[in-house]
Amino acid sequence: PSKEYEVLRRRIFSNTKEFWYFINSELDSLVKSTISVKHIHNLKNMVGEHYRSLLKDVSNLSEVDNYSTWRQQESETLSDLVQNRLEELQNPPNWFTAKQLLCKLEKVCGFGCQLHHIVYCLIVAYSTQRMLVLDYKNWVYGDIWQEVFLPLSDSKTLLNNVSIHQWPGNQDSQIIHLPPVDYVNPKPYFLPQIIPDDLAERLTVLHGDPIVWWIGQIVKYLFRPQKSTINLLNNYSKKLKFQKPIVGVHIRRTDKLINEAKLHTLDEYMVHVENYYKQKELSGEVNQKRIYLATDEPILFDEAKRKYPEYEIVGSDDISKTASLKNRNSKNALQGLIVDIHFLSLSDHLVCTFSSQLCRIAYEIMNSLYPDASTRYTSLDDIYYFGGQNYRLNEAVLSHKANNQYEIDLQVGDQIYVFGNHWNGYSKGKNLRTNLIGLYPTFKVIPKIQSAKITGNGVNIS
Ligand code: GDP
Repeated sequence: PSKEYEVLRRRIFSNTKEFWYFINSELDSLVKSTISVKHIHNLKNMVGEHYRSLLKDVSNLSEVDNYSTWRQQESETLSDLVQNRLEELQNPPNWFTAKQLLCKLEKVCGFGCQLHHIVYCLIVAYSTQRMLVLDYKNWVYGDIWQEVFLPLSDSKTLLNNVSIHQWPGNQDSQIIHLPPVDYVNPKPYFLPQIIPDDLAERLTVLHGDPIVWWIGQIVKYLFRPQKSTINLLNNYSKKLKFQKPIVGVHIRRTDKLINEAKLHTLDEYMVHVENYYKQKELSGEVNQKRIYLATDEPILFDEAKRKYPEYEIVGSDDISKTASLKNRNSKNALQGLIVDIHFLSLSDHLVCTFSSQLCRIAYEIMNSLYPDASTRYTSLDDIYYFGGQNYRLNEAVLSHKANNQYEIDLQVGDQIYVFGNHWNGYSKGKNLRTNLIGLYPTFKVIPKIQSAKITGNGVNIS
């Protein structure tokens, strides 16, 4: 190991102890009730400083450990591997004899939701080794999609005069029609959170959340832009003066608030943006703080400029106006969306609500741009998930005794289905040993990477 690595490693160890000395003694005085409100504010500031210093040191570890070049190369090699496999799958030598998976684009929902439907189809195609054929006929984005992105396949025809078998069909069926994930039956076992077995080991070394990397690669393939799209994005980059450092902020409002998500104020997002910049300032001066703002609530541009004058607010309120319309299926709206997703994904950090598919897409793409971008986000609500997925699985590495009726016990080795993170040190989940649902301290578990070897049509074994 390098000298820097060893020195830093020891510093993290001793400063973690320092953090505990500090909090513990402060809490002692709280117990004695000798503490004033002013003192509590000081305490909060000091805790913040300890926290940022520890984070800085931990992230510096990856800079002084001499593996940066390896990480970059490994991520490129793995990405090329997956992209080439998809390319081969979609361009078989004889497409008219190739096995096909037919996916109809008939879901009535937003762009993110529809794109994730195609992601699901491509995962099933990859896993069953069938060429994916999209039926654009009834798709609201049908014609526009093909103007914006490269076609999924060079040989683009759905075979005529061949009977279409319903999922799961069998090995000999030439064309299998795959229904949407909401009512696919039987459900294939290799859907997220499962990653392909032959990539699992390497991905676990490379990436903090392999499932995001995997989905990011699928989105990367689907999002191969046409020339005109590259020009569009380049023009916007100049027009908006997009530059770093920048934090991507996506604020989803309008129809989403009816019954899918809660309203969060601009200030709630900006707290995390501020934290990002405070952290960054520890590693050098930040000359200009910026956010890239994407939202379907155009008035937020004015609010942001008024309340945060020290920030440069990058983004287009014209795009936002299109996003706020009821009808979001025009070419104009699609282009605006692609611009927003593009710049959100290029940002240094993303602050949004993962309940929104749009933000999850930006995060997925972001994870195809860095060797590991799994910590470059703050979600105000959900943890990262994929619609129709199986639950995330965590494993307890420390035992826990419930402190109250809302908490659950953990024994080392327990497996837990994760329902969510409350972002206050606690997660909610179901302990599969006890079948009890409740809260547990998040630091007492680690993620369990789930992978599977895929054979046959992927529904026979589990
Ligand atoms: P979700 O409903 O937020 O989970 O995501 P969807 O993508 O399924 O549907 C939301 C739709 O609202 C998008 O497809 C866009 O048409 C529009 N929209 C929402 N937020 C934005 C935004 O920040 N920028 C743009 N351009 N469109 C948005």
